[in-house]
Amino acid sequence: MLLTITNTRHPATHLGYLLAKHPERVQSFDLSFGKAHVFYPEAAPDCCTAALLLDVDPVGLVRGPASGFGTRGGGPLANYVNDRPYVASSFLSVALAEVYRSALGGRCREHPELAEERLPLSAHLPVLPCRGGEGFLRQLFEPLGYQLHAEPLPLDETRPEWGRSVYFSVTLEGECRLQDLLSHLYVLIPVLDRDKHYWMAPDEVDKLFRHGEGWLHTHPLREEIGRRYLFRRPSLLREALARLTADDAGAAEEREERQDAEEQAGERALRLNDLRIQAVAQVIRAAQPRKVLDLGCGEGRLLRELLRDAQIEQLTGVDVSIRALEIAQSRLRPERIGNAAAQRVQFLHGALNYRDSRLEGYDAAAVMEVVEHLDPPRLHSFARVLFEHARPGLVALTTPNAEHNVRWPALPAGRFRHRDHRFEWTRAEFRAWSDDVAARFGYAVSYEPIGADDPEVGPPTQMAVFRKAGA
Ligand code: SAH
Repeated sequence: MLLTITNTRHPATHLGYLLAKHPERVQSFDLSFGKAHVFYPEAAPDCCTAALLLDVDPVGLVRGPASGFGTRGGGPLANYVNDRPYVASSFLSVALAEVYRSALGGRCREHPELAEERLPLSAHLPVLPCRGGEGFLRQLFEPLGYQLHAEPLPLDETRPEWGRSVYFSVTLEGECRLQDLLSHLYVLIPVLDRDKHYWMAPDEVDKLFRHGEGWLHTHPLREEIGRRYLFRRPSLLREALARLTADDAGAAEEREERQDAEEQAGERALRLNDLRIQAVAQVIRAAQPRKVLDLGCGEGRLLRELLRDAQIEQLTGVDVSIRALEIAQSRLRPERIGNAAAQRVQFLHGALNYRDSRLEGYDAAAVMEVVEHLDPPRLHSFARVLFEHARPGLVALTTPNAEHNVRWPALPAGRFRHRDHRFEWTRAEFRAWSDDVAARFGYAVSYEPIGADDPEVGPPTQMAVFRKAGA
């Protein structure tokens, strides 16, 4: 079972960033019903195609834990001889959600702005079952703005007299965000298929709405889509239909608004996290350090990003929270990132307000979203520990900009962004503290915004970059 996605906007290989899959590598993923492989048959500046190949194990399917697969009582043979390995079915949706998870969610770690870009994309499904025929296919995809090319496949190429099968070779072409294309496929492939194989959990309705967000409500066939998507579970269907047809329009609207606000807040936070990691990593990389500290490393996301840089020989994550260190350690264990990479990282348990000789001798340090977790009376000892004793050549320190909070509608006035924040600084307060620290300990300091720099209230996150005098 195969799905290829092609981008023709120069540089087309940006598709690799969007899918978070490198165009020069073949990558394989274990799924509960078989294996998925991603590779690029073409990766040129003007045309780049990513292929997702699903290798479904038909025997494992019937015997294995991926049950719930409907065989409609075709005798024992039917259990083993079925079309699942060959046709685009709801397995493909499951694979999309796992293998292209970030792209489906509209996230792009390396180039967040790419996820929002409308691209000339096409998707090709060589074998798509379609109960309802070509007319139904068109009714599904054309309202979403695609040009559809569908070629019916013969039941048996050597026996044309047998006529057509229910399968089509389908190509969709359109200009949209990759996230849109993937969510359309995610919802509509199972709709075309009769055997929705996986167990219908109550969250199916939520999945349908999550991935249908922004288009399903206005689709002319929304009820039919809901019905086919959920066809085995009448109770779920009723819920979905109620939500889709919005008989209680007021309540539905309110719910939508609330969901929108929550999602926007969540999305913003995600995007800001990515931007912050990129900004800090960039400043650190530019200094070409060999040994780098991540102070208050949390769950290790910056470490993982910095590990991609082969010139960094040693990365040390420090945190006071054992739980955070355990998570970071498990994310960066050798089975996940390879032995060589894992050997370059180490973790230290420690509190940043106590002098610690293990922190000496580093070229650069990140202190990302940590100072605001310290009680103000401890800031003084923290500054001494870092700038007087550890004395790295460069320090990149980020913290929220309190002035920006008024731009976050989900955040009640006067509240901090996180329960554990002890304070949040305005730009002036942050500069006053940083200028003072730099002057006292012999560093030069400069400031950079992270996230959009609002003319009135500044950026959501502020960064100070300290460079040791003479370094
Ligand atoms: N730098 C990470 C985590 C930020 S959350 C990121 O940006 O994603 C703040 C982290 O600082 C938490 O993991 C918390 O355990 C740690 N922290 C708070 N006070 C600390 C202290 N006194 N010493 C060391 N780490 C501390």
